[in-house]
Amino acid sequence: MSNNQITIPVEKTANSRIGDVDFNDLPFGKHHSDHMFICTYENGQWDNPKVVPYGNLELDPAAKIFHYGQSVFEGMKAYKDISGKSWLFRPLDNQKRLNISAKRLAIPEVPEEIFIQGLIALLQTDKDWIPTTSGSSLYIRPFIFASGSGFHASPADAYTFMIACSPSGPYFTQKIKVLIENTYSRSANGGVGYAKAGGNYAGQFYPTQLAMDKGYHQVIWTDDNTHEYIEEAGAMNVFIRIHDTLITSPVSDRILDGITRKSILAIAKKEGIAVEERKITVSEVVEAAKNGSIKEMFGAGTAAVVSPIGAFGHDGTDYQLPEVEDSYADLMKKRITDIQYNRSEDPFGWRFEVK
Ligand SMILES: *Cc1c(COP(=O)(O)O)cnc(C)c1O
Repeated sequence: MSNNQITIPVEKTANSRIGDVDFNDLPFGKHHSDHMFICTYENGQWDNPKVVPYGNLELDPAAKIFHYGQSVFEGMKAYKDISGKSWLFRPLDNQKRLNISAKRLAIPEVPEEIFIQGLIALLQTDKDWIPTTSGSSLYIRPFIFASGSGFHASPADAYTFMIACSPSGPYFTQKIKVLIENTYSRSANGGVGYAKAGGNYAGQFYPTQLAMDKGYHQVIWTDDNTHEYIEEAGAMNVFIRIHDTLITSPVSDRILDGITRKSILAIAKKEGIAVEERKITVSEVVEAAKNGSIKEMFGAGTAAVVSPIGAFGHDGTDYQLPEVEDSYADLMKKRITDIQYNRSEDPFGWRFEVK
């Protein structure tokens, strides 16, 4: 990690909102903590990093974010253990991935020390916003957008990097019913699917709404070319257990390189669970559902950790997945959250204390 120490002024709010929030009822993403981190890019460099009270921004209507969607983001969490210490999970992976996304969108990369030290300064200021109720955490949203203006379709000359936080309750993972998509696509070869670019999610809303109208919760994305390969589960990576082997699609320029996904692969290897990173065909999954060899399917991502799938639909037929006793989804969720909340050893070195 970079040792280059930067100065981050902190302007504290005179009107904390923390007393207005019911920490026993924290719908995902609804409340925001008292402060935010902000840093701007002008004249070819990132400058003026600071922590300020959370509040509205003032932007030129011609800011390129509004017209050309030049924006990228990250999703991560801060956790509090029972002794009151605060932790992050693999934060440098988020920092690196934000820059991988930024590069693809022609956005200037944010230096590691600004990301990490800005994040730490914000969390130190808002540490009381990290919930202590079991399973709760402070969801953290770093993002960069084109604040420079002009209607010309070209990269902006000014950008804003921000971090905002939202205390979030436990994510109850009732099993979801998913639809294997065979019309719309989330991403394409050579596209931006591997980036956490704002527009990727806007493009998913309509097909997901159509699936919801048919009674499904989420879409399983397939490859744009043939719709014959399983790629992701909504905005999560996808895992399928056939017999006792855990299978996930290899990352590519169409598939986001999830930190939860990599963590599950590492834990599975350590636990002696057979894993395969390979292409999964829709027909293989349908066949496995018919002959009973499919045992589990789940999504993996920071918000829910794992999101078990109870049934999937394909070409007008629904397939029920069995209830298994030795669920890999449950095991992975336990192993990952035990590390995140400092309840277990961390043999991988993933935990990072915010002091
Ligand atoms: C963020 C995201 C994931 C999960 O990544 P994590 O690092 O595990 O949170 C998976 N797929 C998509 C499309 C995503 O946007």
